[in-house]
Amino acid sequence: MRIGGVARYFAEILTREDAEQAMRFCVENKLKLIPLGNGSNTIFSDNVEALVVQVKHVKTDVVDDTVTVGAGKNLAMLINELAAQGLDLSALTGIPGTIGGAIFGNAGQGPKGIWIDSFIESVTVYDGEWKTLTKKECEFAYRESFFKSSHPSPPPTTLIWEATLKIPKADSAMIKAHIESLLKKRIETQPHLKTAGSCFKAIGDTPAWKLIDAAGLRGYKSGGVEISPKHANFLMNVGEGTYADAVSVVEEVREKIPENLEVEMRFVEPDGEVRFS
Ligand SMILES: Cc1cc2nc3c(=O)[nH]c(=O)nc-3n(C[C@H](O)[C@H](O)[C@H](O)COP(=O)(O)OP(=O)(O)OC[C@H]3O[C@@H](n4cnc5c(N)ncnc54)[C@H](O)[C@@H]3O)c2cc1C
Repeated sequence: MRIGGVARYFAEILTREDAEQAMRFCVENKLKLIPLGNGSNTIFSDNVEALVVQVKHVKTDVVDDTVTVGAGKNLAMLINELAAQGLDLSALTGIPGTIGGAIFGNAGQGPKGIWIDSFIESVTVYDGEWKTLTKKECEFAYRESFFKSSHPSPPPTTLIWEATLKIPKADSAMIKAHIESLLKKRIETQPHLKTAGSCFKAIGDTPAWKLIDAAGLRGYKSGGVEISPKHANFLMNVGEGTYADAVSVVEEVREKIPENLEVEMRFVEPDGEVRFS
């Protein structure tokens, strides 16, 4: 959303040794470790007293229909590369960010649609020890995972390192056509600049935007943050929006809507804690 200030520490994690070193640094300095993918579902406060790390492991190995991919890999790039090889991950088209971010929040379509967990076989993580978790151990649910429910904890935090996915085979041309049609639909119905995607989770089968709309909050603005007139579940930075503006919009929505809307976006407080979790 182009909101937020600086983190006390920042590191790019390229190797397993980097991950181990970052975790040690946090334990020794009693700091929180905050993994960051592409930041497309995260909003930071003005200054964050933590070590923010970006996993840059992007290696992708494809053996038949089995794909092992680094957490830092861009999801859209992976979808396109696999399409060219006749492997169909197109259901996740239009979701910005990395594999790590997508696994963390079990990114995907709406409550009744397809999410990344449909394709996951296992996830390799580092939390002070290297472990490979089965899909069951990842405890996936709608926009939920083991990683999300346990984060942020005091160090060591769980760092998603890579994942193994099983992808259905299909005709390349058909996959590419599907990608095109999904992208076209997204552009027609959603904003894509200076936003962090859906802010609230659906309640059962009711999308959050319907409740926000019904409460008359489409277009509501606090400072430089607005509820998008194009899609009522998207917050937009429409000027010099601040973290406090975004928090105030969320609080207004939660106050006006009796159905206790859960926040999907990650709001990171100055001490590295997550607000609204
Ligand atoms: C225009 C737009 C449309 C969107 N549409 C959708 C949609 O249809 N469906 C959907 O589900 N989401 C959607 N989103 C939200 C967002 O794209 C997803 O949540 C995405 O998966 C976030 O990926 P990221 O890499 O940017 O994660 P970030 O925002 O960087 O991080 C999200 C969370 O994941 C954690 N994380 C990231 N990487 C790691 C790692 N390696 N190890 C441990 N934790 C990690 C972070 O700590 C953070 O808490 C949309 C966003 C935008 C801007």
